[in-house]
Amino acid sequence: MSARNELVKESATEMARQLRAKEVSSRELVQAQLDLIEAAEPRIDAFLRVSGDQALDQADAFDKRLAAGDTDGLPELAGVPIAIKDMIVTKGIPTTAASKILEGWVPPYDATVIEKIKAAGMPILGKTNLDEFAQGSSTEHSAYKPTHNPWDTDRVPGGSGGGSASAVAAFEAPLALGTDTGGSIRQPGALTGTVGVKPTYGGVSRFGAIAMASSLDQIGPVSRSVLDAALLQELIGGYDHRDSTSIPKPVPPLASAAREGMRRDLKGLKVGLVKELGGEGYQPGVEARFNEGVKLLEGMGAEVVEVSCPHFPYALAAYYIIMPSEVSSNLARYDGMRYGLRVMPQAGVEQTAANMMSATREAGFGDEVKRRIILGIYALSAGYYDAWYGSAQKVRTLIIRDFEQAFEQADVLVSPTSPTTAFRFGDKMDDPLAMYLNDVATIPANMAGTPAMSIPAGLSDDGLPVGFQFFAPQMRDEVMYKPAAALEAALQEQWGGPVFKDLKAPWLDGHVSGTTK
Ligand code: GLN
Repeated sequence: MSARNELVKESATEMARQLRAKEVSSRELVQAQLDLIEAAEPRIDAFLRVSGDQALDQADAFDKRLAAGDTDGLPELAGVPIAIKDMIVTKGIPTTAASKILEGWVPPYDATVIEKIKAAGMPILGKTNLDEFAQGSSTEHSAYKPTHNPWDTDRVPGGSGGGSASAVAAFEAPLALGTDTGGSIRQPGALTGTVGVKPTYGGVSRFGAIAMASSLDQIGPVSRSVLDAALLQELIGGYDHRDSTSIPKPVPPLASAAREGMRRDLKGLKVGLVKELGGEGYQPGVEARFNEGVKLLEGMGAEVVEVSCPHFPYALAAYYIIMPSEVSSNLARYDGMRYGLRVMPQAGVEQTAANMMSATREAGFGDEVKRRIILGIYALSAGYYDAWYGSAQKVRTLIIRDFEQAFEQADVLVSPTSPTTAFRFGDKMDDPLAMYLNDVATIPANMAGTPAMSIPAGLSDDGLPVGFQFFAPQMRDEVMYKPAAALEAALQEQWGGPVFKDLKAPWLDGHVSGTTK
């Protein structure tokens, strides 16, 4: 067992410090992560592909740069390895969105966020699993395999970004990137005890993020600490002319807000408890941890008020019109002509382009994706457009107004992230509505384009992690980082360490001291 292996349990910020102090090399760090990935994957299945050789090459390049003293302009997380949701394109590394329809496609370019990660000398460990095209809340809709929750491998890690969340929770990677259209970073964060952030819409470039529902999609960080997430969001954020919805403003000062929060003084901060996000349908253990978190915020000087967002209960229904409408349009490009899979029509069927396209789409898309394409085409069809899509857009406007009014009464809003803790495989697969209800508390932020994040709030009575959600006003992401870091610090003092100290992780055996072998 090498002392380097111990590092896998550290935060990304601590890894970065040790790299700069030359206490460890990026190659050693990457090797320790690759060893752990090998040990964990048989139980976790977080990765669709591990890019070990490339990661080691990237680590060597960074180590050379450090040795040459060429560190000008490098961000704080430089040299720290990262895992990437397979919804984000990576040049030369196959990218599938966990769909059969993209099988064999190797992107000829990098997403903007990947260019930034590479420029920072951050080795890419691999591509993580997800529900096909990011559509789902459990990772069971991946066309390849389900991902397991490190807290209980008989349970789901949430979704769609269950791979990124589980990789970070199982110590396979210190950091990951996800995409969040309705909660796919935050809900898996809640279910795995990780930190997950959906930045302001337009705050992080979507260039190179495979489109699901373009007016809702956003790339964001997954980590084991609030400060790590802040540093990663600063690194990937900022204006990009290749994304027409990118906001031409500088990234807010997130890391300094997190560091300020760690001093645990919240005097003058008004926290709004969203009345509509709680109560019926929320597991008692989830509500209990949430209420304790609110008390801790109060104990640090925050003033807590109740706010009402009367249209939030309609967010889920409106989302399931707007999102599938955009899905049906975005996924029209997978036609067998341009990317990945091509299936020729069966013998006896006329060998036309149209028949090839339907054979490819029939074989290449899974049931959930097909369900949403059909819903979307229906909602957008002539005669139904106003009744469905038009009404849903009106609800969206009302949700935006709810946020605006709430932010007149409070600086930051809070709620549980997800109504329940991690559920068992198969529990919700036959009941799409039960699956969709996972996102009741996360979807409003996507509808309004506002930033939101989930941090671990402890364990429910069932021993499984609970998520605590913060919402901030648009382009004011720093406003949520401060109380999130404060609550994280207060909770960790109570627990005597991060929530992960209670995680039983047999795959760490022989890698980290205190375990067997
Ligand atoms: N679980 C939600 C859905 O199924 C959210 C997906 C996402 O954020 N990508 O649509």
